[in-house]
Amino acid sequence: MARKAAPENVMIDHGEGKNRIRKIIGSNMDIDFSNEAFGNSQCPWNAAEGTNIHKCAVKNTSICKYFCGVQYLDSVLCSYPAENLTVLKPDEIDRDL
Ligand code: SF4
Repeated sequence: MARKAAPENVMIDHGEGKNRIRKIIGSNMDIDFSNEAFGNSQCPWNAAEGTNIHKCAVKNTSICKYFCGVQYLDSVLCSYPAENLTVLKPDEIDRDL
């Protein structure tokens, strides 16, 4: 199977010529739900284990096996307890892993 090329600054088609948003690959993010005082939700994996160690993305280090992306404004799409690659469809992944 041919590898998908990594898209560079792909414009997202909203129809009617409204391609106003770029999908810029390779962001390097820190995302976690460790600050409940900030009003964020709780990570279901941390809740199940009674811990606070799991993080969605750690800059330069890792991405959680349940992390399925981010949706505006700041919602994490999480597939816990099913691993992301068992849930995401091929067209929801932007390149070969
Ligand atoms: S992706 Fe889901 S399970 Fe993983 S750290 Fe984030 S909220 Fe928790």
